[in-house]
Amino acid sequence: MADIVIVGAGPAGISAAEVLCAKGLRPVLTDEGARAGGQGYRRPADDLALDMNRLMGSEAGKYAALHRRFEALRPKVDYRPRTLVWAIDGDQLRLLRDGRAETLAFDRLLIASGAMDRVAPLPGWTLPGVFTVGGAQVALKDQGCLIGSRVAFLGSSPLLALAAKQYRDMGAEIAVIADTTPFGVKIATLPALLLRAPRTLLRGISYMGASLRAGTQMLHGVTPLAVEGAGRVEALLLRDAQGRERRFACDAIALGYGLKPETQLADLAQAEFAYDPGFRLHLPKIDGLGRARPGLYLAGDGVRIGGADAAEASGALAAHAILTDLGQPQDIEVVRRLARQVERLRAFQRDLARAFAWPTAQIAALSDSVMLCRCENVTVGEVRAAMAKELGPIEVNRVKAMTRCGMGRCQGRVCGPALQEIVAAGRDGAAAGRLRGQAPVKPIALAVAGEPA
Ligand SMILES: Cc1cc2nc3c(=O)[nH]c(=O)nc-3n(C[C@H](O)[C@H](O)[C@H](O)COP(=O)(O)OP(=O)(O)OC[C@H]3O[C@@H](n4cnc5c(N)ncnc54)[C@H](O)[C@@H]3O)c2cc1C
Repeated sequence: MADIVIVGAGPAGISAAEVLCAKGLRPVLTDEGARAGGQGYRRPADDLALDMNRLMGSEAGKYAALHRRFEALRPKVDYRPRTLVWAIDGDQLRLLRDGRAETLAFDRLLIASGAMDRVAPLPGWTLPGVFTVGGAQVALKDQGCLIGSRVAFLGSSPLLALAAKQYRDMGAEIAVIADTTPFGVKIATLPALLLRAPRTLLRGISYMGASLRAGTQMLHGVTPLAVEGAGRVEALLLRDAQGRERRFACDAIALGYGLKPETQLADLAQAEFAYDPGFRLHLPKIDGLGRARPGLYLAGDGVRIGGADAAEASGALAAHAILTDLGQPQDIEVVRRLARQVERLRAFQRDLARAFAWPTAQIAALSDSVMLCRCENVTVGEVRAAMAKELGPIEVNRVKAMTRCGMGRCQGRVCGPALQEIVAAGRDGAAAGRLRGQAPVKPIALAVAGEPA
């Protein structure tokens, strides 16, 4: 039995562990990755000799600081890398640790599981050579690989310009950065963004400036038409804001519409959810410190997208909540300051979600032949046919049962947001219902799931 378990050794989990260790506690810190740091501050294997200063740019100092802090923390926590939490049964975590099945009981659980890309399908998106933007970054930071030599970045996200800069710095040619949100919408959100987090805004603008200086084409307000290629990606076809069809030759595409919290573990841990119309996502309910229910705490991008600084502050905040619940009164000024910082940075991301919008109309207009669930080979048309049946499904879980959409290896983590929009069919996303989380939250061998705990 462990008193406190933290899932996720990114900025949120590391900060939480620091606060707990400072009070003499020794939490378990699990992460499925081999090295701590999480997604944004992902640490490459030591023998890769990647130039992280160049790759991280203006964030190199924060990157180095987090890894230094983790090294100082490491002897004080029960750190378990390569340990995937794939299910939660009551107060038991089911783990896959270095390929072996284990269980771990806990008193208090802090989930800081981070985020993943939100993707919208388009014709041809299952061709080899299409990656998510985050996946393209993982290939680079984790393995020192580029997804292609001439890469198109498509979607709507500040990460498009950032990832394109990282790829350019590492020698790739950028075919185009194509954003589906019109430029005018971005301009309209500038005052709000400037007010909340001017430094973060300037950082984002500098990535766009770097693209323009490098002569990279940046288009706004595009309509993606198709990924083309015989057997693998050869071109991206889109309609630009002026209504012209344009084809960009490329050998890889990085696709992404911002990030969505990884909430499956929170779901299995019995958190309650509410629909958030701003993000068009169902998100776990938490109080101001990150409590979801007695004994369950949620922090970082895994509960609300906020960026690395908000993740750190919310991790510390959740740790203060744990200490308070253990009967150790906390410095109210410290807690208030952290809460204000988290609130401001999450509000910034909420505005950002308007500047880089999730393309609901584009998804609603997808043709029947487009593949929606690539794990189970379910098309948009099959989902629409299921919805049209008499007494047919009215919400996502029934559609899933009838079509197997969202029932495959990714458990709806990839197709779920687009499925929600197809089922909502132009209505408020809440009308589609919430795709329930199921174990295993990530693919594992059947033999592991069947092993006695
Ligand atoms: C692919 C990707 C790339 C990104 N790149 C950048 C970037 O370049 N610059 C930038 O500013 N922001 C980037 N971001 C956003 C940035 O990651 C976050 O703002 C920040 O890292 C959030 O910190 P966190 O601690 O909440 O989560 P994370 O840093 O994501 O850490 C979560 C940790 O939880 C672990 N985890 C998740 N599920 C499980 C499980 N079931 N069992 C065990 N461990 C688990 C993960 O392995 C991960 O280490 C990126 C996000 C993603 C998803």
